[in-house]
Amino acid sequence: MGNKIVVVGINHAGTSAIRTLLSQSKDHELVAFDRNDNISFLGCGIALSVSGVVETVKDLFYSDCNELESLGAEVHMSTEVVKIDIDKKEVTARELTTGIERVVGYDKLIYAAGSWPIDFNVENKDLENIYVCKLFQHAVTLIEKANEPEIESVAVVGAGYIGIELAEAYHLKGKKVTLIDLQDRVVPAYFDTEFTDRLQSDIKKAGVELVLGARLTGYVGDEDGNVKQIVTDRGSFDADLVIQCVGFRPNTELLPTAEKLKNGSIKVDSTMQTSIPDVYAIGDSAAMIHAVTGTHRHVALATNAVKGGVVVASQINGVDAVRLENVSGTNAICVFDNKLASTGLSETAAKDAGLNVVSSYYLDNDRPEFMNATEEVGVKLVFERDSLRLVGAQIGSYGETSHTECIFYLSLAIQKKMTLTELAMTDVYFLPHFNKPFNFIISAILQALGLNYMKKA
Ligand SMILES: Cc1cc2nc3c(=O)[nH]c(=O)nc-3n(C[C@H](O)[C@H](O)[C@H](O)COP(=O)(O)OP(=O)(O)OC[C@H]3O[C@@H](n4cnc5c(N)ncnc54)[C@H](O)[C@@H]3O)c2cc1C
Repeated sequence: MGNKIVVVGINHAGTSAIRTLLSQSKDHELVAFDRNDNISFLGCGIALSVSGVVETVKDLFYSDCNELESLGAEVHMSTEVVKIDIDKKEVTARELTTGIERVVGYDKLIYAAGSWPIDFNVENKDLENIYVCKLFQHAVTLIEKANEPEIESVAVVGAGYIGIELAEAYHLKGKKVTLIDLQDRVVPAYFDTEFTDRLQSDIKKAGVELVLGARLTGYVGDEDGNVKQIVTDRGSFDADLVIQCVGFRPNTELLPTAEKLKNGSIKVDSTMQTSIPDVYAIGDSAAMIHAVTGTHRHVALATNAVKGGVVVASQINGVDAVRLENVSGTNAICVFDNKLASTGLSETAAKDAGLNVVSSYYLDNDRPEFMNATEEVGVKLVFERDSLRLVGAQIGSYGETSHTECIFYLSLAIQKKMTLTELAMTDVYFLPHFNKPFNFIISAILQALGLNYMKKA
């Protein structure tokens, strides 16, 4: 006999949970709600659609209600869950078009309500042409704006990966782009200066105005109510279009008694169970155990969202071996000819977390110099001074080839708490077409261990 399961939120986390649950077992009665009118939209393709690399933004969906219904789910779109009663084990959901409310009971609740972009409460924030970037609906607008000749200048607030991708996309569309961030570096959460200095230099070389260490204070509009300038404490900049990309806040108000981190994300264990019985949280709403610190961290990535869905479904279906013991926050970005990937904590983040770490940065040609083409690759390893446990890795690949996927095994090493001495003996291949006898990752490890004869002087 199956469970009565309610799923709140049907984007990446919710879709993954429903697909897995109903693929593994048809016994459940599953009711799912989403306040949006579409599911499974890949936001990672928004910037690619703005620049025109992705020609059809509708190709960024990988599932729909019909698929979930054909698996046996009862799906209610444009329906917002407005209340969760954890004592009665009931949710109240309101159809947004009619206002009709329904109450549905559950044995197990999967909370996958995700996150929403952080907004600024600054002067003139309600002017036209100021947007955030998350949904399909945002994508449609941002693509339209990219093709409007009247939009000559674009300001992007927030130089995280979404902000930089959008800055590049509008730059490729011929707009005058200003990229603004409060921090003094781009992507500071993921990469150290060895990578961000080079990226910043390439952003500026391309002609994008990069304004770092600047606080947004407001906007100036024209007589029609359209934004015309963005104002910061480091000056004002032309902006016919503004996109605010300064991070995401978890949508977790519906579960006020769940144990949470300061930013509101809900703490879960390796089975995605929250502190409330029979309530699971997955995706951007959840904070999972971080492999490096062993404490909860909010790592809002689609990769964790879909894995969380597989885990919660497997757990409900009694497949206990499927767990997510920890996450290492593996991520990548491909912008302005910089192919970057990182995992674990950057050196800055590790020190901020109170770890006693040292690091080693290794830059070399990827292939032997006797080959007719070589490309630069940089590897940074962050490790504990005493134990030599790897706690972070960053890779920069500067050429046609991408070496960023090597980050996968370093991510596994971090998840499995491996040391540099163990990693140095990893059985990696050598082939001149791809790498050197001492592969750049192994060389980086050996350099970190004090052996530094691999590279040509
Ligand atoms: C522009 C952009 C680019 C990105 N690129 C990458 C990338 O390259 N790689 C990567 O790993 N991650 C990327 N991400 C992050 C990734 O998209 C998120 O981690 C992922 O969307 C999280 O999925 P989720 O299902 O947990 O949450 P969400 O995507 O936030 O979905 C939550 C769903 O819940 C619904 N909901 C919320 N509240 C309610 C309610 N009360 N009632 C009913 N429904 C509700 C929402 O409508 C929504 O459909 C990107 C994000 C953006 C915005």
